[in-house]
Amino acid sequence: MKMSQARLASCIPVPMDQKALVGVIEKAKDWALMHGVGMRDKKHFTKDSIQIAPFVLLPSPFPRTEFTKAVELQQVLNELMHKVAHDEEFLETTLQNALQVDEFTASLYDIWVTVRKEGIVQPISLGMLRSDIMLESRCPHTENQCAKHTPYCSWKQVEINSIASGFGHLGPISREIQSYVLRQLGHGDLIKNMPENKALSGLCGGITEAYDLFGVPGAVILFVVEEVSYNICDQRFHEFQISETRPEIVIYRRTLNEIYEESALNDKKQLILEGKPVAVVYYRSGYEPAQYPSSREWDARLRVERSTAIKCPSIQYQLAGTKKVQQALAAPGVLEKFMGGGASTGRVRDIFTGLYSLDFDDGGERAVEMALADAERFVLKPQREGGGNNLYGADVREALLRMRHSRERAAYILMERILPPLVSGYVVRPGGPVPPPLCDLVSELGIFGVIIGTKEKILCNRQVGHMLRTKLADANEGGVAAGLGALDSPYLLDL
Ligand code: ADP
Ligand code: MG
Repeated sequence: MKMSQARLASCIPVPMDQKALVGVIEKAKDWALMHGVGMRDKKHFTKDSIQIAPFVLLPSPFPRTEFTKAVELQQVLNELMHKVAHDEEFLETTLQNALQVDEFTASLYDIWVTVRKEGIVQPISLGMLRSDIMLESRCPHTENQCAKHTPYCSWKQVEINSIASGFGHLGPISREIQSYVLRQLGHGDLIKNMPENKALSGLCGGITEAYDLFGVPGAVILFVVEEVSYNICDQRFHEFQISETRPEIVIYRRTLNEIYEESALNDKKQLILEGKPVAVVYYRSGYEPAQYPSSREWDARLRVERSTAIKCPSIQYQLAGTKKVQQALAAPGVLEKFMGGGASTGRVRDIFTGLYSLDFDDGGERAVEMALADAERFVLKPQREGGGNNLYGADVREALLRMRHSRERAAYILMERILPPLVSGYVVRPGGPVPPPLCDLVSELGIFGVIIGTKEKILCNRQVGHMLRTKLADANEGGVAAGLGALDSPYLLDL
């Protein structure tokens, strides 16, 4: 597989001189600890310390034209997601089969049905989205690369996240630590090729804009958090940012279980916490089944959805962010229905790689056959978020053989595997070897978007920044909090 994979040159020559490498890593680790490039230690958890988050020493090359294309498309994607989230019929038909077999999605869906039946008391939603993309290194014109497109690089969408889209702090700070490294190495002149990144202020601006739309003096903001937050820097910096720009706003952090115990709805359907109405609820948890260990968490979620608080995301936005919806959007005619037939529809179509339903129909059967014939070409995805749930290669085959005649398969989608170009680089990990080995790496870029609006009207729609995650080329997934990926930032290349 690697033989056919294109390669992009790193921003400075590698391998680096070993002594320079060891020296700059020591400085960079201290820079990391002193600027919040950190995470909590999973093995030896304590709230009294953080350790460095894994990071790539040098920024990873990314073609400038492709980066610009991604940034420019974000508002179009924001609007598309907003429309999808507000199309009840489309969500119902699209999720129908998956709901039969996937209890988690069904529980979310039930909440949505309940709040619609009761009447939605807060028509405004706050979407803080992140569209994740990878460069595709295979030229579509020939089996291998054609002369015209060498090196070929055009990005494809991996997924779009509508809940707990992290790295608003870790994205921008990755640019800063790598800038520091480049300066220390005498390459400060290269920093001009690293695009500015204002994700943190952009995302927090979305939260405070929603807060102002709520318009109740003395109202508070609620962050819904996990029992234990390993990715604490990324969450706290949002709080620090809001506290600096809007010192009068109080932010609470609560788990779903604490919300169950401590909150209530008043007669105006305001969510009351510590005696104050909640203006905005920002979920950094609540996207996977393990975060709802009992009916209390589901009750808490329902209570929040019933309230006047502006939710990020509201339940329909979370449903719009499922894998099944992404696959349905790629089906013929669907984008046209949401976006009309104009130029931006074509631009969105171009970012989809092959996405196939596994429903029990002709299309589903064809997809199963196709994947069994060449499993390496595909990724099999259930309706889950948070990493570590997808199947690759031989596991795709095994799972399809097992599920072929079971309804369970409708809860999965089949996606063509993207093969990104390789870059040689150094990954600095907590407790890792110094100097680290030079490795083949691949990256995934995330573009942040903020959208606020009601079904009828979009009040704000912005692209607000980006993040880059990089992993070893032979790893299937690259979640940073999961310990596989590393923080990175793009170094724009004029190919
Ligand atoms: P999750 O919601 O768990 O984050 P994703 O769809 O983002 O699910 O998949 C997790 C990871 O798997 C991605 O970050 C990426 O590294 C890898 N991945 C997912 N889809 C593809 C694909 N089509 N081609 C290559 N890698 C993929
Ligand atoms: Mg993902």
